[in-house]
Formats: sequence, C-alpha cells, structure tokens
Amino acid sequence: MTLLQRLPTIRSKLSSVIVFAVGLTILLVLLILGEVLEVFQIRDHVWEILLAGALGAGISLVISRWVARGLTQPLRDMAVAARKMEAGDYSQRVVTDSRDEVGRLAVAFNRMSSELESLERLRRDLVANVSHELKTPISALRAHLENLLDGVEDPDPETLQIMLTQSERLGRLVDELLELSRLESGDVPLDREHVALAPLVTQVLSEIEVARSDRGVRLDDAVPRDLPPVFADRERVHQVLFNLLDNAVRFTPTGGLVTVTASAHNGSIDVAVADTGPGIAAEHLPRVFERFYRVDASRSRDDGGTGIGLAIARSVVEAHGGRIWAESEPGGGSTFTFELPLAPSTQWGRRP
Ligand code: ADP
Repeated sequence: MTLLQRLPTIRSKLSSVIVFAVGLTILLVLLILGEVLEVFQIRDHVWEILLAGALGAGISLVISRWVARGLTQPLRDMAVAARKMEAGDYSQRVVTDSRDEVGRLAVAFNRMSSELESLERLRRDLVANVSHELKTPISALRAHLENLLDGVEDPDPETLQIMLTQSERLGRLVDELLELSRLESGDVPLDREHVALAPLVTQVLSEIEVARSDRGVRLDDAVPRDLPPVFADRERVHQVLFNLLDNAVRFTPTGGLVTVTASAHNGSIDVAVADTGPGIAAEHLPRVFERFYRVDASRSRDDGGTGIGLAIARSVVEAHGGRIWAESEPGGGSTFTFELPLAPSTQWGRRP
C-alpha cells in the first residue's frame, strides 16, 4: 500500500500531493535562482524562503480542498444513496452536471438505481398478482367445502365438477408460473431442429378443434405447404401456436373464423393467427404480453384463462431470437404474429 493509499479521503490525498508539488517547486526555483544563477545568497534569505513556501502551500491547500469538495460531492451522494438502497429505498438519484469520470459514474449509478426500482416494482406486482390469482380458486374451493361440511350443499356431481374445475385451474396456474419462470431464467435449453411449420400448424389446429369443439368457431389452415423449415424447438413452437390459437378461439364468438397464415421473409418466417373476435383496444394492445394482464379479467378467468399464455409465448419466441406482436381493430378482430428464424442451411424457398 503506498503512502497515498493510506490517506482516508480523496481530499486529503489531493491536498498532500499539491502541498508536496508546491513546496518542491518553490525549493527548486529558489535553489536555481540562488545556487545556480546566483541572483541572491540563499543563506541570507532563509526566513523569506520558509515564509514563501508556507504561504504557497497554505494557498494551494485551501484551493485543493475547495476543488476536491466539488469533485467528490457526487461520490458522497452515491454512498448515501447506496446505503438507502440497501434498506430498500430505490428512489434515490444523484444530481450532478459534471462530465468527468465521476459524472459518468453518477449517470451509470442513476441508470442502475432506476433499473433496480422497476425490477422491485415488477417483483412486488408479481407477488401481489400471484397471490390474487391463487386466492380466487382457493376461496371458491373453500366455500364449496364449507358448504358441503355444513350440509348447505350436497356432494352432487355438479358441485364436485365445479370443485374439480377450480382445482384444475390452480394446477394449471402453478404449472404455467413455473414454466414462465424457467423460461425467463433461461433454465430450459432450446432443443433446436429443422421444423416444418405446415404440419405442425395442422396438428395444433386439430388439437384445438377437439379441445374447443363447443365453441362453434371455424378454423382455416392457410399455411403454404412449401415453406422452408424454421430452426426451432418443436415443443416450444407447438406451445406458442397452441396458446395463440386457444386465445383466438376463446375470444371469438360462435360462427366466427380463425385463420392461420405464414410467409417467409429474408431469414425468417412470420406466422399469423387472425380471428374475427371483438378485437383489442389500442391502449391494451402493448400490454397483453405482460403476465396477468387481461383486458377483461373476469371473462378470461371464466373461460379458464390464467393471464400467462401470451407471456409464455413471448418468452419462447424471444428465446429463439424472434419477435411477437399483436395488431387489432376493436370490433374488427385481432391478429397475433410471431417471427422465427429460418434454419441456417436453408436456401431461400428450398428445403435442405
Ligand atoms: P388469458 O389466459 O387471459 O387468455 P393471455 O396471456 O393468453 O391470458 O392473454 C392476455 C389477454 O389478452 C387476455 O386476457 C385477453 O384480454 C387478451 N387477448 C388475448 N388474445 C386475444 C384475442 N385473440 N382476442 C381478444 N383479446 C385477446
């Protein structure tokens, strides 16, 4: 550890360097003037020399302390802010207009604290949302169980079916939450392969047809058979298609139409799921991919929705390096489109 590093503050380091430099300069100047150039005899002026040295050192000390104070203020502010952040207060910002390294550090610090603040808000929202979502089916189940115990309700198939539906909802919610958290933390490696989209879309459409046969919505498969394959995890793409199609069918009234189309562009394929449902208002559109965001929460819940399907779809598509987006005209249906990269060895329009 050098002598300078032992000093506790930047101010004292700066002061000692300046005092040393000023003292050395005065001494050298006097030596040159006195001994080399012999302008005067040093021995005759010892007191003047000491006084000049002391004065020079004193003035530079005052200046250095003043400069150091301004220089280190943002650092002291950051130390205070960091201590408050330790205690959970992420609203702290450091004010500085300095453009030097300390100023740049303050800008980086502010960026970091606002990032932490929004993460903390997300965490709190998530805990609140998860608790709320879990509470709804648990309360319903408990109410039925209490009624059964009190003899107010009979354990008839209808009541038991309601209870089964609620417990299935709970299970689905927990599964989807675990799935989303695994996807977001990157714990599930993608098992990429060449995937032909047309047969996959056909398969998912037939699964939806079975699962939602009661809805009375027509399904149209308009995916060209000669599309080049994408380089993706088949199971995950299946999941994205299933979530988009399930939503489209759930939100489209009886007699409506859901169409799947796909087209190849330079280096990627766009798959679009369009419905003739009620559409989504512009203010809700950018938020539907957030976890638990629903335009109409009670309707989505009644339909068996968990509010996580689109968040999972987005995580999967982004993990593949693609994009997903929604377009809609209220009253004119919605179109959800996702883009996936083509398989690397694929020549434009030709299968490898
Ligand atoms: P949910 O389980 O509620 O369907 P999602 O994450 O899949 O959750 O969707 C979020 C919300 O986006 C839905 O609650 C609904 O309000 C809206 N939404 C999704 N797909 C459609 C669609 N095809 N038409 C109208 N609204 C939709």
